[in-house]
Amino acid sequence: MLRIARNDVGRIYAQVLEEYPHECCGILSEGAEGGICVVHVCENIQQRRHEEDPERYPRDARTAYLIDPVEQMRISEEAEKAGGRVSGFYHSHIDCEAYFSEEDERRTWIFNRREAGEEPDDPDALYLVVSADGEDTGAKRQINAHKCFAWDGSGYAETGVEIVD
Ligand SMILES: [Zn+2]
Repeated sequence: MLRIARNDVGRIYAQVLEEYPHECCGILSEGAEGGICVVHVCENIQQRRHEEDPERYPRDARTAYLIDPVEQMRISEEAEKAGGRVSGFYHSHIDCEAYFSEEDERRTWIFNRREAGEEPDDPDALYLVVSADGEDTGAKRQINAHKCFAWDGSGYAETGVEIVD
């Protein structure tokens, strides 16, 4: 279950709409006591990587996101210094549903090996996906849905989002 402040949901929605038709992304962290997450807006560097090296990064930012690993490390270290941790990630889906894609799932196993029956690298991480439609489909730019996914011991399943006022 993800607990997130209503104005942070609004901030993420605004980022999704602003960066359309590129996916946007960010990191969620929590303090020592857990509770309501803290939102860290990140730059999606996928477009830059794709333009520099399309062979290694065949997808552009319309269908993929990449958080700068240096930025991710910094956010993680800051959260841990405060006794907390990175608790999840969010990204947007452009002109399609808010689902946990095969690519989204594959990326949760960077270090561990799924073939060996191991759990994802961080089995406690939550993944918030926000879907938006826009000009590219002739629609007005708008948020469609948000869904959160978590590892349930055998696969990724939808989990609740509690929006806190
Ligand atoms: Zn995705």
